[in-house]
Amino acid sequence: MDLMEYQAKQLFAKYDVPVTVGIVVENAEDARAATEELGGRVVVKAQVKTGGRGKAGGVKLAASPEEAVAKAAEILGMDIKGHTVRRVLIAPTADIAEEYYFSFLVDRSNRNYLCIASIEGGIEIEEVARSNPDAVAKVAIDPLVGVDAVKAREIVEATRFPAEVAEEALDLITKLWTLFVEEDAGLVEVNPLVRLGDGHLEALDGKVSLDENADFRHTEHAAFEDSSAADPLEAKAKEKGLNYVKLDGAVGIIGNGAGLVMSTLDVVAYAGEAHGGVKPANFLDIGGGASAEVMADGLDIILNDAQVKSVFVNVFGGITACDAVANGIVSALGILGDSATKPIVVRLDGNNVVEGRRILEQAGHPLVTLVDTMDGAADRAAELAAAGSESKG
Ligand code: GDP
Ligand code: MN
Repeated sequence: MDLMEYQAKQLFAKYDVPVTVGIVVENAEDARAATEELGGRVVVKAQVKTGGRGKAGGVKLAASPEEAVAKAAEILGMDIKGHTVRRVLIAPTADIAEEYYFSFLVDRSNRNYLCIASIEGGIEIEEVARSNPDAVAKVAIDPLVGVDAVKAREIVEATRFPAEVAEEALDLITKLWTLFVEEDAGLVEVNPLVRLGDGHLEALDGKVSLDENADFRHTEHAAFEDSSAADPLEAKAKEKGLNYVKLDGAVGIIGNGAGLVMSTLDVVAYAGEAHGGVKPANFLDIGGGASAEVMADGLDIILNDAQVKSVFVNVFGGITACDAVANGIVSALGILGDSATKPIVVRLDGNNVVEGRRILEQAGHPLVTLVDTMDGAADRAAELAAAGSESKG
């Protein structure tokens, strides 16, 4: 489970990591009292589970309560990479001298933990890694030893934290590590970790991902999961019992079986590169059944995603054969009627594929294109999505 910034900061506070949580509001007008309480000068920050809010206009300074209300009104309802902003964090402005990057994460390929840190923070770490790789310190952490005093010092030195913040950094690193372990996190990221004008460190942004497999050890984590802030499409999918994850792209994906859907995402992302960087819009596994009703539910959710410009239905017929899936698609489109308006590329293979394709061809639905291969279908879907995005301007 990914936490929002304010939730991550609540955890930071619990572990005594220097942070100012601030006040979360859902109505712009409430920003007035919050700003007054915080001393009149604040930063208004969109609370969505995606990075790059600053660049997208989701982080704005306000010098008065009135201005904070205006900025909150601007940010609330904003769409940031497909996430609608339903709440903003009002936090006191910080006097920033320098911005650093700091994170602990699970390093799966090395069966290890990893610390990534840089004194060039504030911007995305991938960008720093590209433009100035020497500025990114990577320190492996032995899970059996963890971050002891020696390791913390190694991290401080590898990062080349300035001498005046070194002691405070040691302390902060130790506390973040304790949080990482005790909360069963898979990621703890602070970007920016700032040196303030007065020389102290403060976590100005936080990203924490908690391991849901450890939820049984943390009944208190349930409080972080709030349905009101959840994506409405994800909520709807959950209600329908569909395995759906919203992503940032424009090609809606439906497949049967998690493995097939995963590889479909890869193939679409790859094909999208030839069409201006079009990406998958979601993960949706309709499972083995693929009945008309499930197909209709799946299509309904995906077609209601404003970011979706085309849909790729990728089905491998097994116990539920292709003809049943094809009938499912045809009746799903019947159920959806005029509400279905986006091009749908279908690739069927496996059990009873010939009959499945015949059913779709015979139905001749104007939105449906049949493509025989997965690569070909991904390419077609990406092309249609690119065209759809263009025509919308
Ligand atoms: P992100 O873009 O989603 O990572 O959001 P951040 O919380 O990291 O904010 C983006 C940038 O806004 C930071 O790197 C800072 O430069 C700036 N920022 C955030 N909070 C403050 C603040 O309190 N005061 C000032 N002056 N800048 C801030
Ligand atoms: Mn940030």
